[in-house]
Amino acid sequence: MAKKIVVVGGVAAGASAAAKARRDDEHAEIVVLEKGPYVSFANCGLPYFVSGEIEGRDELLLQTPESLRSRMALDVRVHHEAVAVHADRREVEVVDHASGTRQTIGYDELVLAPGARPIVPPLAGVKSTNVHLLRTVPDADALRAALDAGARRAVVIGGGFIGLEAAEGLRHRGLEVTLVEKAPQVLPPVDPEMAAPVADELVRLGIDLRLGVGATRFVTAGDRAIAAELEDGSLIEADLFLLSIGVRPNVELAVAAGCALGPTGAIAVDERMATSVPGIWAAGDAVEMRHLVGDTPVWIALAGPANRQGRVAGANTVGGDLRFRGALGTAIVRVGRLTAASTGLSEKACARGGIECRVTWNRHGHHAGYFPGAQPLTLKLVSDKKTGRLLGAQAVGAEGVDKRIDVVATALHGGLSVADLEDLDLAYAPPFGAARDPIHQAAMTHHNLQKGVLSGLTPSEALERLHALQVVDVRNPGERAGGMLAGAIGIPLTELRERIGELEPAKETLVYCAGGQRSAFAARVLRQRGFAQVHTLVGGWAAYGMFEAARMHAAPRAPAAAAS
Ligand code: FAD
Repeated sequence: MAKKIVVVGGVAAGASAAAKARRDDEHAEIVVLEKGPYVSFANCGLPYFVSGEIEGRDELLLQTPESLRSRMALDVRVHHEAVAVHADRREVEVVDHASGTRQTIGYDELVLAPGARPIVPPLAGVKSTNVHLLRTVPDADALRAALDAGARRAVVIGGGFIGLEAAEGLRHRGLEVTLVEKAPQVLPPVDPEMAAPVADELVRLGIDLRLGVGATRFVTAGDRAIAAELEDGSLIEADLFLLSIGVRPNVELAVAAGCALGPTGAIAVDERMATSVPGIWAAGDAVEMRHLVGDTPVWIALAGPANRQGRVAGANTVGGDLRFRGALGTAIVRVGRLTAASTGLSEKACARGGIECRVTWNRHGHHAGYFPGAQPLTLKLVSDKKTGRLLGAQAVGAEGVDKRIDVVATALHGGLSVADLEDLDLAYAPPFGAARDPIHQAAMTHHNLQKGVLSGLTPSEALERLHALQVVDVRNPGERAGGMLAGAIGIPLTELRERIGELEPAKETLVYCAGGQRSAFAARVLRQRGFAQVHTLVGGWAAYGMFEAARMHAAPRAPAAAAS
């Protein structure tokens, strides 16, 4: 007899599950329940629809109930909300919001893909008509309508990936935009110094950045908010407000059905996406997964894992045996001229997990310097200090960030070491990369530190010990105009051998240059000429500058206006 599959949630994970179940079983009866008005829409495109970069609303609607019915023989029911699951009887209770009726649907296999919902803090005024969310097509419609109605000033609360995309989009539409983030940096999952160039870019775009302060309430006039009050007492007036402070997994239905949750609070599933209740599978933002590097349960609300998990769940509902091994949290965002991306564990995540890590920064052109248009790209590698295992990477730059992060993500999936990265045979022609790609450069620096060929101090380690070190700046005089480390002696690399007498070989020495390449050379020269202990400044002046920028962005600023 044909199996009956019921899928709750019709977007990334749910639509993938239903489509895969159909591809693998032509005879199954497949019902998709979606409480909203649309299925299979492009959530990730919503900020670009708001900005106008995606012009047509229809471009967001990848499929319709009709197209899914005719192409895949799926029974797709929009405005249908699953409100209870009776796992013992294998039945789902459904409310049809269009007709107001309630019905019970039996299933052989149930896939829960209800996603996540935005966190709405209980702030005064938060229910005002112009305090928006950005999760669904109607949310994006409401924002577009506010723009069409002449909104000129916006406050975006939350500086994560979606908050940044929205802030950029609203600015692109010509609004005055203030971005408020409670953490002392934007992109809280990323390490602060790697997020600093993004903060610089937001400022360059003309966005008023308020870091390290949360919103405390909305000041209202009637049903509208007219200002957001921040923890530092400042009031920011605006016509529209967007809350983007994170999401929470929708687990209520699963809990009521008896499905176990994992330590993250999301639905626990095995590699086949089976929950703890027989016949119930789950996928997408509602589930937790294994971190492929940290080997811990994590909750990652991203479209890639959701789509792949949905496919696995769908196949397994009809007798397949696909597995989802886990994810790395690989993520990317564009802000103005910059792109920032990360994969695997950050330095922050290592600190949280008690992993002692080694970090390096390398700044190089994204392609050969002699070919016009090379843009600086900073790549940070993170490895386990004890085992040497590659743990993660972050990158920021105008071009080529996606390629490097995806290479490292692939390496992490394959369990490659830092030394393996040195050897990767990557595509190269001058417009695309370099014979020694930024990946190779970063891996070589990192590996040299791992092997002890070089000794490195991070900018924070260097600053702590600066007073006790002999510091040598091997940049050229012109490069030092922007500043030098306190007490540093300037000797360009090209003059180092002839001026070596100006330095004391017995003193512990720190050498630095712009990005780390010349200082690595200089350190080898000094070591081989009898200097006892020589360190390089990892990432050079460029990395130091990113730390300084992060510190400046995090510094509290005077409130713009006092709250009454
Ligand atoms: P969803 O796509 O949220 O779908 C769940 C669906 O289930 C919803 O439509 C909901 O209405 C429905 N539902 C919930 N409960 C019920 C119920 N009881 N009955 C019936 N239906 C129900 N990820 C990236 O990787 N890259 C990006 O660039 C990116 N950008 C994003 C931008 C925005 C604005 C947003 C909102 C998200 C973005 N994401 C991005 C995240 C990505 O969209 C999600 O990770 C992904 O959509 C999760 O898929 P899902 O199927 O689990 O949940």
